[in-house]
Amino acid sequence: MSDLRELYQQTIIDHNRKPRNFHPMPDADHHAKGHNPLCGDRLELYLKMDGNRISDASFTGVGCAISTASASMMTEAIKGRTLDEVKTLYSHFHTLLTTPMHKPVSTDGLDKLEVFSGVREFPVRVKCATLAWHTLEAAIKDEKSEAKTE
Ligand code: ZN
Repeated sequence: MSDLRELYQQTIIDHNRKPRNFHPMPDADHHAKGHNPLCGDRLELYLKMDGNRISDASFTGVGCAISTASASMMTEAIKGRTLDEVKTLYSHFHTLLTTPMHKPVSTDGLDKLEVFSGVREFPVRVKCATLAWHTLEAAIKDEKSEAKTE
């Protein structure tokens, strides 16, 4: 447990200091803004879709360390994945964050995102960690060039 906590802190610090995929994307075909008024986190998310697959993702914005690290790790995790895979990933991530500390939780398929289980100790920060994912949902619905088949 303390190993995971240390990893959590190191990972958050690292991604906050050097966010991955942190740039605007002028030729993005999907885009959305997210705001977490509880903490003041703001971010913009950019996606490029190749059919049903996310071929590229980036973000910009200003927020706390958790929201920035979460957006950074999310863009890494979703690149190259299909929308179905992303949906499954988000549901696992959400379950991880909303399961009380004393209950066991599965981290199947979460890979590096597992470190966010540390956020469960601070329920008020859960919205910081999920902001990027809510914004992702909005961006996916922002269809400029893709026809919806569902
Ligand atoms: Zn925050």
